[in-house]
Amino acid sequence: MRPVPPRTAFCKSAVPSSVREAYLWGREHLSACGVEAAALEAEVLLRCALGVTRAQLYVRWPASVEEGAWRRYVELLEQRGSGRPLAYLVGEREFCGLPFWVDERVLVPRPETEHLVEVVLEATRDVKDPAYVDVGTGSGAVAVALAVRRPDATVYATDVSRDALAVAERNAGRHGVSGRVQLLHGDALEPLLQAGLRAHAVAANPPYVPPSARSELPPEVLAEPEVAVFAPGPRGVELHERIADQARAVLRESGVLALEVAAKWDQARQVMRTLERMGYREVRAVRDLAGLERVVVARWR
Ligand code: GLN
Repeated sequence: MRPVPPRTAFCKSAVPSSVREAYLWGREHLSACGVEAAALEAEVLLRCALGVTRAQLYVRWPASVEEGAWRRYVELLEQRGSGRPLAYLVGEREFCGLPFWVDERVLVPRPETEHLVEVVLEATRDVKDPAYVDVGTGSGAVAVALAVRRPDATVYATDVSRDALAVAERNAGRHGVSGRVQLLHGDALEPLLQAGLRAHAVAANPPYVPPSARSELPPEVLAEPEVAVFAPGPRGVELHERIADQARAVLRESGVLALEVAAKWDQARQVMRTLERMGYREVRAVRDLAGLERVVVARWR
């Protein structure tokens, strides 16, 4: 799906007479470009260009727009209209109630992934001073959320991308958990295996889109890092299987493995079967708010 060019000419040289006018123009532009939440996103971009809060925006509704702010707004609208994700434009996305810095180096954290965090917290409620692993941490969203929610936890966060680890490091610092989130460079659980580290839970939101589904993806997803989106094999669950295999040597007794899956391509079933075959117990799938099987969870021995 490619962005559709706007139906109406976007007259960017003429500064509109009011903030309200600017908002309406932006909304129309985004809507013409096929952006679903055009009204909300135009508002967010306008706030970003003006550097104001939501309340301040409405107070300024009838006021005029400075030329510099207008130019920034037009630039943001054009980039959004051509498929750049909103989160990259504003540089932030909320996850588990915490703001995370994001940019092109990392996947934009998704609300569905909050289930992964909840599942791990719930399954380790009775463990004192838990050690958690977040495989493929990206922005650090899962690792940092776990560390914030469990002040007695240590979290190992791995990623193959050094670029992603740099973003995760900033986010850990932002939320004051740098001392308890250890960033490790390497593929899947390799860094833990090499260092002989063990954990009470391993969580991951691995890249799970089969490469053959590329043409079905919206431009926003194609703007995210390939390595964070596309699975390394045709079924989409190849990395889940590698993590599950390695996790057997990392998990402590009764340790928890929680893996996010796509809500399609029969991924939950495939991962559940694999875990059972590998000797995991209590294998089950947790549904997201849309009622779709989202997280496969199991215990190791
Ligand atoms: N763990 C990060 C997240 O869930 C990144 C996952 C990824 O890049 N596949 O947002």
